[in-house]
Amino acid sequence: MKRTLYGPDHEEFGAAVATFVQRAVTPNLERYNEERVIDREVWREAGKQGILGLEIPDEFGGSFAGDYRFNAIATEELAKVDMALPSCMGIHFDIVAPYLADLCTDEQKQRWLPGFCSGEIVTGIAMTEPSGGSDLAALKTTAVKDGDDWILNGSKTFITNGYNADLIIVAARTSPEKKARGISLFAVETGMAGYERGRKLDKVGQHDSDTAELFFTDVRVPGENLIGEVDQGFIYMMERLPQERIGCSITNLAHATEIFHETVEYSKERKAFGQSIGSLQHNKFKLAEMQTKLDVTQAFVDQCIAAKVENELTAIDAAKAKWWTSQVQNEVIDDCVQIFGGYGYMNEYRVARAWSDARVTKIWAGANEIMKELIGRDMGL
Ligand SMILES: Cc1cc2nc3c(=O)[nH]c(=O)nc-3n(C[C@H](O)[C@H](O)[C@H](O)COP(=O)(O)OP(=O)(O)OC[C@H]3O[C@@H](n4cnc5c(N)ncnc54)[C@H](O)[C@@H]3O)c2cc1C
Repeated sequence: MKRTLYGPDHEEFGAAVATFVQRAVTPNLERYNEERVIDREVWREAGKQGILGLEIPDEFGGSFAGDYRFNAIATEELAKVDMALPSCMGIHFDIVAPYLADLCTDEQKQRWLPGFCSGEIVTGIAMTEPSGGSDLAALKTTAVKDGDDWILNGSKTFITNGYNADLIIVAARTSPEKKARGISLFAVETGMAGYERGRKLDKVGQHDSDTAELFFTDVRVPGENLIGEVDQGFIYMMERLPQERIGCSITNLAHATEIFHETVEYSKERKAFGQSIGSLQHNKFKLAEMQTKLDVTQAFVDQCIAAKVENELTAIDAAKAKWWTSQVQNEVIDDCVQIFGGYGYMNEYRVARAWSDARVTKIWAGANEIMKELIGRDMGL
């Protein structure tokens, strides 16, 4: 189905992102998977391409466009090549960026944003803890005021870019008696005494995106690293989760669509019983179903992106897009594996890796059950 979301400027930017990824990432993907991290040089090159500063004003080194379609098309191009790219880079330019751009003081912006845009400073955000991620309001990491500083204690887990990041936004409890209204956000920087990373976690897929545990033992965080106002952290996170969820939706769909196209080509070439496997009625119908699911889903996601551009994307529509696209992505890629037969189970085939890369999308950014809980609540149930 013809999409009408993007204009020539977006297409041109998307083409530049695609060229950059093919040149800087594709030839090294094997190594990144083995080393469980992408080279820092890729971040710096992404910075030069203007990808990292899309949400950041020019005066702080960014390429602020004020048009979410640029984020969207960059995310699509990254996802087409490798699902881990929009995970680790998307956390930085699409998820962390609004926290820094909207909530930081001018002094903080001067300190962090130029490096953020150039790729010298890699960032992440740490909400989830070993005791739970879905019930964010119950987080246990604490920050206690000591003079102008805060003393941070606790731990986080499953943090994307956790191993590689120079700056992590950490959600911590500052007013224990207030539950959700007692959480604040802090910028924790590499080198702060008492801040340690655990090993790179051994995931089922997305091996080139680094994911780590973080430990805080009496970390002295200066007052000037508080992000926004004290005790407002939960509200800040809730305000920005719709953008995180639409970003995930764009990734999920672009990734599944790319694998689907490869599968159609394969199904035309591979022969069984003297004919292409794609022409066997069962496979033909399966592929037709997949194409329909992807097109119909794309229409909804494009509508959400258009709403986001107008600042009208609701948390509920973002939740619908997030759970639905991750479901469709996993169903489609699982069907693609089947069409590839035994090759679909071999890691040297992209479809096999895509299958394990995709599984997490039903779990992270708010598990799908939590998305349905939000939608149900909105229906008055
Ligand atoms: C690869 C990876 C990268 C990640 N990156 C980050 C990151 O960068 N930063 C970050 O902060 N977090 C990150 N996460 C964490 C992710 O957001 C959490 O895993 C997710 O929110 C679920 O939390 P949990 O794992 O603690 O599961 P739990 O909260 O323990 O939930 C377990 C199960 O119970 C279900 N459940 C829980 N509550 C309800 C309910 N009320 N109704 C119905 N079902 C419910 C859940 O849906 C889930 O199926 C990442 C996770 C992974 C796997």
